[in-house]
Amino acid sequence: MRLLIMGPPGAGKGTQAVALARRVDGPHISTGDIFRDNIGRRTELGTLAEKYIAAGEYVPDGVTDAMVRDRLAEPDATSAFVLDGYPRTEQQVATLDDLLDARGASVDAVIELVVPDEQLVARIHRRSAESGRLDDTDEVVRRRLAVYAEQTAPLLRTYADRGLLHRLDGTGDLDEVRQSINLALGV
Ligand code: ADP
Repeated sequence: MRLLIMGPPGAGKGTQAVALARRVDGPHISTGDIFRDNIGRRTELGTLAEKYIAAGEYVPDGVTDAMVRDRLAEPDATSAFVLDGYPRTEQQVATLDDLLDARGASVDAVIELVVPDEQLVARIHRRSAESGRLDDTDEVVRRRLAVYAEQTAPLLRTYADRGLLHRLDGTGDLDEVRQSINLALGV
């Protein structure tokens, strides 16, 4: 299965995506993780991405699209994957469509984790001490939420119109959310 997991910062996408990827026997592909890995290794891509991420802004589409294109071309992503944090813009949706279309494939389902804003802010605030993420400060978190509402939330409509969207409550504990995802997908 080729799956997308979407939702605002702090919704729990990463944790659920790891479990789901294991379940569908494909790689977990997180654009945020790939950027952070590059920042840690001080690559050119990392240096470029860092200033956007630190400000809570999206990395430019051209950069992100090329990175995802390369990753999806790897053999482990041929028939199954869980994309976490991509697509986030209209252009990224189009890029992903083209990319999969070229292989005669398409997205099978999209999971949206729904969590109210106050809870998101509280969750990220709680994890910020241990995460060491440069974008988990309260001010940058607010910006990330605003960018999500502006640029990414509207994309959910596109996937709903295609009949692919599963809107799930992301406020329960990890196991509850995991079970509702598996139930929705029948995996
Ligand atoms: P979160 O969903 O909690 O914001 P991520 O780890 O998915 O965390 O992303 C962290 C940051 O990485 C984003 O705020 C953004 O700057 C950058 N990023 C990740 N994915 C994308 C993407 N698809 N397009 C542009 N920027 C991205």
